Amino acid sequence: MKLDGTDINILKALMDNGRLSFRQIAEQVKVSVPTVSSKISNMENLGLIRGYQVILDTEGLGELSVVLLIRARPSDLEDLAERMKLDDRVRSLYMLSSARMMLMCTFIDPMQVNDYVRGLANYPEIIDYHISNITKVVKEEQRPLVEEGIVILPSCARCGKRITEHGVKVRREGKNRFYCNDECAGEV
Ligand SMILES: [Zn+2]
Repeated sequence: MKLDGTDINILKALMDNGRLSFRQIAEQVKVSVPTVSSKISNMENLGLIRGYQVILDTEGLGELSVVLLIRARPSDLEDLAERMKLDDRVRSLYMLSSARMMLMCTFIDPMQVNDYVRGLANYPEIIDYHISNITKVVKEEQRPLVEEGIVILPSCARCGKRITEHGVKVRREGKNRFYCNDECAGEV
């Protein structure tokens, strides 16, 4: 499914301020309130809009962030990432080429960083790692590039997996839901 110009403008308005009402967005984007409402609910159902967050000034909290580059055997990476992401201190986790992954972690104080690094010994799959403190945040954005015509791969309403092949669309409770296959669509 493709985003049109109105979708993009609505997204941009929401990315700027997630607390805008449908009416405010409608005024800004110059479409009707029902259009805003149905387009937003559609993008929510597709899993494109995953939620609305409070953005804290973490710098102001005096917290400490580090970047961690981890190398492991390719066959261990997926499982390792699944376990490591469960830690609240891991803010983001990216799989990289060359059997590596990158984590950004945030801690209250340097003691916690030491604890965390010591805890890495509990992951025998880690071959080696590099850690660097983030000394200054110059720019921090979610991937903000929304443009007309980009194609959304919906995520399955049942299992959450990205639907890359032919998905199944089911209309439930007046909303379109997307599933990877009949099996996922069957279970409610
Ligand atoms: Zn599924």
